[in-house]
Amino acid sequence: MGVRRTVPVKLDVDSDGAALLEDTVDTFLWCAQYVTDHAFEGEYVTTSKTTLDDETYDEVREATDGFNGGLVQAARNKAAEACKSVVARWKNGKKASKPHFTSPHVVYDHRTATLHDDHVGLATTDGRIEADYVLPDKASDTPHADYLFSDEYETTGSELHYSNGNWMLHIHCKTDVEPDTSKQATTENRTVLGVDLGVNNLAVASTGTFWTGNEFNHWRREYEKRRGDLQEHGTRWAHENIQSVGRKEEGRFTMTLHRISNELVAEARDHGCSVIAFEELTNIRDRTGASWGHKWAFTRLYEYAEYKAVEYGIDVAQVDPENTSRRCSHCGFTHPDNRESESFACLKCGYLNHADYDAAKNIGLRYLRRNQTGDDGGAPLGVRLNSGTLNVNGEYESPASTEARTGVHAESHLFTGG
Ligand SMILES: [Zn+2]
Repeated sequence: MGVRRTVPVKLDVDSDGAALLEDTVDTFLWCAQYVTDHAFEGEYVTTSKTTLDDETYDEVREATDGFNGGLVQAARNKAAEACKSVVARWKNGKKASKPHFTSPHVVYDHRTATLHDDHVGLATTDGRIEADYVLPDKASDTPHADYLFSDEYETTGSELHYSNGNWMLHIHCKTDVEPDTSKQATTENRTVLGVDLGVNNLAVASTGTFWTGNEFNHWRREYEKRRGDLQEHGTRWAHENIQSVGRKEEGRFTMTLHRISNELVAEARDHGCSVIAFEELTNIRDRTGASWGHKWAFTRLYEYAEYKAVEYGIDVAQVDPENTSRRCSHCGFTHPDNRESESFACLKCGYLNHADYDAAKNIGLRYLRRNQTGDDGGAPLGVRLNSGTLNVNGEYESPASTEARTGVHAESHLFTGG
C-alpha cells in the first residue's frame, strides 16, 4: 500500500512574480467559480467532468484571454469535485450550498508545473515563471529530505497557496515502498494532540493547555444585546446597523479563531505531534449545549487548524465523539455519572481531573485506536500529554525505556474538583 505525503515549500518570489501569481490565482478561482455557477444552472447539478468540459471550456478560455488550458482543466476538476461533494451531502440528507472559491490557491499537475531540485517552473496568466525554493538550512530530518528529495517518493502534483504573506508550494509525494529503515518506520509513527471543544472552554488540548471561552462568550452576549436594541427600532437605519453589527462580530470572532488555531498548531509542533485530532462536529450542539454561534466557531477553528497544519506536515483529523466526555482516560471505565459539570471523577478508579481535559485525552486515544486497526496503515505512537505521552492501552511508561518510540511522563493534575 502506498504512503502519501504533502511537503510545503516556501517560494522566493519577487514583486513582478508575485503580481503575476496573484493574477493567476484570481483567474484560477474565477474559472472554478464560473464552472460551478454553470453546474448549478439547470434543474440538476451537473457533476460530470466531461459534460462540464464540453459545456464550459471554450467559453472560459475566451473569457480569460486564453488562460493556460491545463489550469482551466484543473479549475474545472476542482469545481466538479466540489459540486459532487455538495450532491453527496444532499443524498445523505445534509445541508450544503453552492461552493464559493475564495482561499487563494492554484492546482498544478506535471504539465502546468515543472519541479526541479531547487526551483519550480509554474504556468501563469502570462507564460511561465520560475521560482526558487527556500529550503531549511538543515539538510536531513526535514520533510524535504525524507520525501521530496527521496528516490523512493515520486511527486504527483502540487498546489500553490498564498498565506501569511508567503507563496507556498504544497508538493504531493507518494511511494509504493514500505519503509525499510527504522528511521523511516519511526517517521510513520504518530503522536497525537487530542482537542476537546466546548462552551466554557473553546478548546482544551491533551497537553493540558486551555483556551477559555470567556472572551468569545462575552462578545457574543454583547453583540446579541446590540442587535436586540437595534431590532426594537425597526427602522431601515436599524436594519442596516444590525447587519453591520453582524460583520463586526464575525470579524472579531474570526480574528480570535485565527489566533487559537495558530496556537493549537504551535502546541502540536512544540510537542512533536504529527496529528491533531478533534471530535466530529455533527450533533455537537446536542452534546455540549453549544449555540449555533459556537458551532460556527468550532467549524472555523477546525478549518483554520487544518489549513495551517499542512505547512508543517501535521494532519488534522476528526474522530467519533461518542462517550469521550464520560470515559475515564485512565482506566477506560465509561459512565455518565463519572462527570459532573466540569469535574471528572471516575467511579471505578477514582481518577480526578478537569472533565474537558479528560475528554481531550480520550479524543486522542480514539484516534490512535481507530488507526491501529489499520485504517491508514500507520503505526501510531501515543497521545501527547503536558509532558510525555499516553499509549494506546492508556498506560504510562517511563520515558527512558521508550525513548526511541515514545516518551511518557506522569501527568500533572490540573484540576481536582469543581
Ligand atoms: Zn477510571
